[in-house]
This record gives sequence, structure tokens and C-alpha cells, in this order.
Amino acid sequence: MLTNDQLDQWDRENFFHPSTHLAQHARGESPNRIITGASGSHIEDRDGTRLLDGFAGLYCVNVGYGRPEIAEAIAAQAKELAYYHSYAGHGTEASITLAKMVLDRAPDGMSKVYFGLGGSDANETNVKLIWYYNNILGRPEKKKIISRWRGYHGSGLMTGSLTGLELFHKKFDLPLAQVVHTEAPYYYRRPDAAMSEAQFTAHCVAELEALIEREGPDTIAAFIGEPVLGTGGIVPPPEGYWAAIQDVLNKHDILLVADEVVTGFGRTGSMFGSQHYGIKPDLITIAKGLTSAYAPLSGSIVGDKMWKVLEQGTDENGPIGHGWTYSAHPIGAAAGIANLELLDKLNLIDNAAKVGAHLNTKMAEALGDHVHVGEVRGEGMLCAVEFVKDRDSRTFFDADQKIGYQIAGELLKRGVIGRAMPQGDILGFAPPFCLTEAEAEEIAGKMAESVKAVFG
Ligand code: PMP
Repeated sequence: MLTNDQLDQWDRENFFHPSTHLAQHARGESPNRIITGASGSHIEDRDGTRLLDGFAGLYCVNVGYGRPEIAEAIAAQAKELAYYHSYAGHGTEASITLAKMVLDRAPDGMSKVYFGLGGSDANETNVKLIWYYNNILGRPEKKKIISRWRGYHGSGLMTGSLTGLELFHKKFDLPLAQVVHTEAPYYYRRPDAAMSEAQFTAHCVAELEALIEREGPDTIAAFIGEPVLGTGGIVPPPEGYWAAIQDVLNKHDILLVADEVVTGFGRTGSMFGSQHYGIKPDLITIAKGLTSAYAPLSGSIVGDKMWKVLEQGTDENGPIGHGWTYSAHPIGAAAGIANLELLDKLNLIDNAAKVGAHLNTKMAEALGDHVHVGEVRGEGMLCAVEFVKDRDSRTFFDADQKIGYQIAGELLKRGVIGRAMPQGDILGFAPPFCLTEAEAEEIAGKMAESVKAVFG
């Protein structure tokens, strides 16, 4: 076994970490934490430190760590048939079974599921399908995709463009020209404090309509959005938002992509965020909760309306020119089946709704009145605390104070992982669905201690 020093040295010399300050890491200025094991809602590092994972990895280990049922399903699949491709009508029992299980759970009007590897590639697939669709319909100009500021849809070329966070564009020559961004449905950051939620929704809708008019409705193919904004700050939509947005999209024949990479398979307390908020998407992006991250697998669920046109396209042009070597990988599919079975068997989505509500209540009780807490918000097993310099004016702290990171650091010292979100001083929580009420109280209690440690 490698010594800690050896691991530290090899890590800093060889390993290109994603979403990391590369120079600081190479110089040894930022910590590395080597994770060695996990069970339930806890992870353990090489030094034997046990941490309550309030973010389920990257909001993905939904059924919790260390589930033997999923590990055994993966092992059995690997022994029986580790791989075969799914091109030209090939498949495996695992991939066919999982496709049926996903469709059985999906909102009404969905037709087929295409499997990929991660959320980013699934959204790349979605954009290609949208372009193909409009080409088959003889509308080659209808290609632009509208995304929201603060949306997160991946970090590829197109998906990084869709992501509405500056860090993912800066110095990468993004966003690409086919992507335009509109207002984030972020009520706390409404332009006028006097606006009601309904008025703010009307404002978001007016912004969207103005953008469509400016660009020309005949150039806009689709709108993509997460049912609850995730990485952009864990922000549930304001009252009436999705119904009003869908009216505008329908008026202009614009497709709707619900990016359910975070919300899919139970995180809002419903199977899909689309069902939770009455969204009727043409495409749904799934990843994370599909396998609870026991193996990489994602998907694009294609609605009836698009599917008919895709079929027509292949009648006219031959097989669809899209596919990955690892599409519908049998090991991922086996993990997905075992994961969805566990969600049902242990009623984990009900637990997410119940314990998630408890977490939000306890967090609001612990911090809601603090002078530097602007808002405690959440939905299902999602919770966020937004810190501000001044509550009345909702002013930000200076960015170089790194308040969010300071609080996350204090929390970590107390054995709990929360995520400092990339823009603003927001601490996010998205624990595994098996979280207990006592663990929810521990997160809220330790947040209160950490906030006290930072602000006094
Ligand atoms: N969409 C959403 C809503 C996400 O949160 C993420 C990842 N956090 C992605 C897409 C991209 O997924 P991946 O990192 O698996 O490519």
C-alpha cells in the first residue's frame, strides 16, 4: 500500500483534477482528500476521518453508499457479459430492462430512452436530436437553444455553452453562437424587492418573450432548464413559473428539454421534477440518480412528438449518425436496474421528501433569523443557505472574503460536507435519500456552529 506522502506526491505530479485550481493544487496549497470507503450517508478518508456527506458526492449517490445489492449486480453482469455494444439493434437484457423501467417511471408522453455516460454527453445528444428534428421538418434556421443564466447543463463545448455560469465560459471561447441565455428564475435575486413571486414570474416570462422576439422565433429550436436550478444555487422556481414558460414555448413551437440530471429519480420528493412541477418536456436528461453513481450512465428520454420525426428522418437518410461505444453499457445498466429496485423497495423517495422537509425546517430554525442569512430554501432532499452582507439590501459580501468557502471549511472541521456553490455565498445540501432525521438535525446544528465560528 502507498504511504500518504507517496500518494500526495503522485497526486500532485500526475493527476489533472476537474474543477480544481490547478496551480494551487500542484504547489500543494490546497488539500487533497483521498477517500477510501463509505457507507450510508458517510464517507471515510485515508486518515480515518468519517464525514457526513451532505452532498451525496455530487448530488448523485442517492441511495447512499455501500449498497451490496448494486455491487453484486455489477459483479454478476461483469462476469456474465462485461460489454457488448448497442449499435444496429444490438442490446443486452440489462439495457433493454432498464429502458423499460425508466419509461415506466417517466412522465406521460415519453417514447424511448437513449443511454449515454454522463449528464454532459446526454445534453450533447439532446442538442443533436433537436437539430436533426428541425432539419427533417425542413426548418434549417430553427437551431438556437435558450438556456438560463445560472443553469448547469455540463461542461462540453455545447453543454458548457448552455451552462449559464461565467466560470465555464471564461477563456474557453464559450458560449457558442447557437446558445442564448435568459433570466434565471431566482426570486431571491429579483430586480425589485417589492415584486411578488407572481410578478417576478411575469418578469421572467416577459424577458423570455423579448429574447425570442429579438432573435426571431423561427431561429429558436429549444429551451433547456433544470426543474430546480442546481449548481447555480439550488433555487426552486417561483410560483407559476413552469406553466407560464411552457405557454410561451408552445406559442412559438419551441421544444422543451427538462434537464433532470439532479432532479430525476426522486430528489424533489417526486420521481421526476417534471411530475413535481407539471412540466411536459419533449426531452428529459437523466444521469446521476439513474445509477446513484455506482457506474457511469446517463440518458435522453425522447418524447412522442420528437420520436415520430426521428423515425421519419431515418426513413429518409438511413441509420441515425449518432452513438457512443459505451451507449447503454451493460454494467451501467445492471447498476441502474438494482438502483431503481432499491429506490422502490426501501421507499427512498418518500424518505427523501420526509427527511428533506425536516432538513429544510431545521435549517430554517437554526439559521433563518441570522443577520447574514438572506434565505434558506429547498425542495425535497435539496436545501441551500444564502449568505449576504446585509439582509435588507441583499448585498453580497466581497468575493475575496470567500464567505461560502469559509463556512464550508468550518463545517468540514465539524465532520459534515456541504457544497459552496460556484456563484455567491451559497451553501448547498443534497444528501443521500437514506438520510435520517437525526443526521438532518446534525447538518443543521453543525451549520449553526460553523456560521458562529465565521461571524462570531
Ligand atoms: N445537468 C445538470 C443539471 C447537472 O447538474 C450536471 C452535473 N452536475 C450535468 C448536467 C452534467 O453532468 P456530468 O457532470 O455527468 O457530465
